[in-house]
Amino acid sequence: MEDSLKNAAPAQEEPRKLNFLEEIIEKDLAEGKVDSIMTRFPPEPNGYLHLGHAKSICLNFGLAQKYGGKTNLRYDDTNPVKEDVEYVDSIKEDIKWLGFQWDKELYASDYFDQLYEWAEQLIKEGLAYVDDQTQEEIRQGRGTVDRPGTPSPWRDRSVEENLTLFREMKAGKYADGEKVLRAKIDMAHPNMMFRDPLLYRIKHASHHRTGDKWCIYPMYDFTHGQCDSIEHITHSICTLEFDVHRPLYDWFIKVLGIYPSHQYEFARLNLTYTLMSKRKLLELVQKGLVSGWDDPRMPTLCGVRRRGYTPEALRMFCDKIGVSKRDQLMDIQLLEWCVRQDLNARSNRYMVVQDPLKVTITNWEKGKVEWFDCPLNPADPEGASRKVPFTGELYIEKADFMEDAPKKFFRLKPGGEVRLKYTYIIKCDEVIKDEEGNVIELKCSYDPSTRPGGEGAWRSVKGTIHWVSVEHAKSIELRLYDRLFTLADMSQVPEDKDYKDFLNPDSLIVTEGFAEPALLEDGSGIPVQFERIGYYVCDKDSTPEKPVFNKTTSLKDSYKPE
Ligand code: ATP
Ligand code: MG
Repeated sequence: MEDSLKNAAPAQEEPRKLNFLEEIIEKDLAEGKVDSIMTRFPPEPNGYLHLGHAKSICLNFGLAQKYGGKTNLRYDDTNPVKEDVEYVDSIKEDIKWLGFQWDKELYASDYFDQLYEWAEQLIKEGLAYVDDQTQEEIRQGRGTVDRPGTPSPWRDRSVEENLTLFREMKAGKYADGEKVLRAKIDMAHPNMMFRDPLLYRIKHASHHRTGDKWCIYPMYDFTHGQCDSIEHITHSICTLEFDVHRPLYDWFIKVLGIYPSHQYEFARLNLTYTLMSKRKLLELVQKGLVSGWDDPRMPTLCGVRRRGYTPEALRMFCDKIGVSKRDQLMDIQLLEWCVRQDLNARSNRYMVVQDPLKVTITNWEKGKVEWFDCPLNPADPEGASRKVPFTGELYIEKADFMEDAPKKFFRLKPGGEVRLKYTYIIKCDEVIKDEEGNVIELKCSYDPSTRPGGEGAWRSVKGTIHWVSVEHAKSIELRLYDRLFTLADMSQVPEDKDYKDFLNPDSLIVTEGFAEPALLEDGSGIPVQFERIGYYVCDKDSTPEKPVFNKTTSLKDSYKPE
């Protein structure tokens, strides 16, 4: 074993292959198509960011960082009805938490005047008209993929009439839905997007930034590309479902004669046992099926943050899954693996007993307390330490004792020995039971010569278990989280069922634990490891009387990434 270690080549990670976006960017830079790159992250402020957005953030910000460019944060706030300042603020907090900093904070609504002017420009060029048809008539008139659409009876209005009507729309003369502005392109175009797409709709609603200034709002397709163009975004990266929009994106840029931004699509992130639709996540919150957007079971960034996932782990995960052009369902276990990787390296260790069994050390001097200096992280034995009190009355985990133990059981059994982590070897001399035969206490004796670093010769036993001193133990609330849904692929909810039918009834279990006192003084700001149990993080619901810890993830898992 040792030989093979010696001969092993030094661990060196192979440089990762460029993903297709990096290839495009390197080519554009090499050919001088762009001098520097500019990306943007364009959230709609209608909900909290989730893990899918983290992928998009890591990509947009990551690419700009890698190639010395910049990234704008641009709120895609063209739908006044669903948007809110609460979301605007949370989005900024989440991006910063992930470790990124935007160049400019911008809003599509900043460009409403410019967009309006461009709409008038199209009208004047005969490329747009006001349509009086109802939403339903417009939908019907679009035709189908194999049947051309029918032109609107209002399609051939004069430029003057269109201008007057559009200005009246803006001035508030018409009710919601009474009129729309449409581009005049081609009602028989094979790409349905080109069958006179909507540019503006009437919506008498207050906007979170522009207030009541506007009662007409531009549609996504008439907004996104132009905003990119105004900001000189070189690479506008979005998810695959927008590929059908790309020709239209290019068309507006061409007819308006503005800066040619380009759109590139990648596959959205889907995770097993996870839903990532803001609309459905909002429903879970509104129906009280979770405690809020930041419920630790939610895939929102505030949820996973409260759960104890670190930005380092999320970035590692986004890097590992790479960028694909085909939709894929990623295994949530890979994310959990990344969390463990990060926390294993950095987290402080403490001992917590979840299901206590009392141990009395019969040969311990009554009332004596011995403080052990224990490393906070075993990977750094010389690093910071914590003081752990040892006394004659301890708790160990019930599961670490077995009366009729099989041969391979190396923890405590009658007449057997075990080491109490960081301290002595004890021997189980007597088992105390209640009237019903349940084991309620163990009488043990300790071997003073087995003190680590002490005088006695080192003696080893097979098992080492964790423990806490009864007198010093702090009672804490433990919230044990599991997956929110029971279905691996949440896109496969059967027709006759609802996604809510797959909520996991055991996704939250609340129990109690007994912790060594130093746990409550931990100031690391990241989750800690409860030795031999898992990773936990202090929750905001904690009070001085009742500290609360959320389970971040288990210590080990059979899962190994490919
Ligand atoms: P949802 O479907 O959850 O409402 P959305 O796409 O409407 O999400 P936006 O706020 O419009 O949410 O998204 C901002 C950016 O994040 C967009 O560029 C979008 O493509 C990207 N994004 C959203 N969901 C994912 C995902 N699952 N994987 C990768 N990128 C995503
Ligand atoms: Mg969207």
